[in-house]
Amino acid sequence: MINQIEIESFNEKILVQRIIGSVQGSKKTPTVIAIGGIHGNERAGINALLKVFKTINDENIALKGNFYGIAGNINAISENIRFKNVDLNRIWTKKEILKLLLENHLEIESQEQNEIYIIIKNILKTEKGPFYFLDLHTTSSDTKPFITISDSLNNRKYSSYFSIPTILGIEEFLEGPLLTYINEFGHIALGFEAGQHDNEVSVDNCIAFLWLALVAAKCVHKKDVKKYSFYKSSLSLFNEDQDFYKIDYKYTIKPFENFKMVNGYKNFQEIAKHELLANSNGRKIESKQKGKIFMPLYQKKGDDGFFVITRISKFWLKASRLARKLHFHQFLRLLPGVKSDKKNTYTLIVNPKTAKFLATEIFHLFGYRKKVIKGDKYYFIKRDRKISAFI
Ligand SMILES: [Zn+2]
Repeated sequence: MINQIEIESFNEKILVQRIIGSVQGSKKTPTVIAIGGIHGNERAGINALLKVFKTINDENIALKGNFYGIAGNINAISENIRFKNVDLNRIWTKKEILKLLLENHLEIESQEQNEIYIIIKNILKTEKGPFYFLDLHTTSSDTKPFITISDSLNNRKYSSYFSIPTILGIEEFLEGPLLTYINEFGHIALGFEAGQHDNEVSVDNCIAFLWLALVAAKCVHKKDVKKYSFYKSSLSLFNEDQDFYKIDYKYTIKPFENFKMVNGYKNFQEIAKHELLANSNGRKIESKQKGKIFMPLYQKKGDDGFFVITRISKFWLKASRLARKLHFHQFLRLLPGVKSDKKNTYTLIVNPKTAKFLATEIFHLFGYRKKVIKGDKYYFIKRDRKISAFI
């Protein structure tokens, strides 16, 4: 395992080690944990974390709570590639975690995962909550910054502090991201996409985001952040009014498929129904609906070709918040074809006929996501949940 590497990143020589930085605050609460470089070619977060820790040190900034910076896929970072064998941000499932505990020989990414897992487990055991997890990313195509979250009310609340677009429910389309795993235990977790991989602005955006996140978590006092207003306005530039979006569609690239996105798409660009988006094995791929293009793939690694998203109305956001606060979801269980899972309090087992009749939207409204199909039943899993022990 590589423990420490020196790399050149954004014209700077930087030292990358698993714990990028850690500061213990006076009040011991809250605890903010930021991860950079879980994808090895997304180095902006690492540069930014190093800079933020340096400023805390140089300016003697007193923290109320604790702040940790963790490096992601160090082997992949050393080669400036997304991953070596498997994507480190797609293996955070109970099955893969169990492997870490049971198997003697671990693949390279599982070794990385094991180290991160142990650190997170220790922090959750020894420090005080509330815990805020931040995962810093960049994208292959040009983009304005945005946030991705699992749709829990505490995630939404934290995310509305930043005046940037927020995408809800990405976990329904991705298997095994770190933050979805963290959410299972009731902690707040935001994914931040800062901009294009190699654009220096991405580092600045990560820095601004980290400071705002520390202030929003009440880990640092606003007055102690010299450039606070600058950070706030520099991120707000990208979106005057914060918007929430939902994912309607994902194009999955199959193994050995020759997928090529049509050149020039920018993240959040409007697309029309039947618009030509990509070519695959000589076949034209057109959009099935009107919306905005999201995360079009312009790099070789990765199997998410593109997503299509649409804006969520303010009415829906309010209605779903109210419905969840008043525990209206209890009523779902009274419907024919819906029953609660005795093994898991957060899961509803739904008969496919009922699911078809009710539409996934209803489940989303009440905070249920991630439709898993097992046998002839659908499983909907609630995102809002109480804090539980990390395993
Ligand atoms: Zn990434």
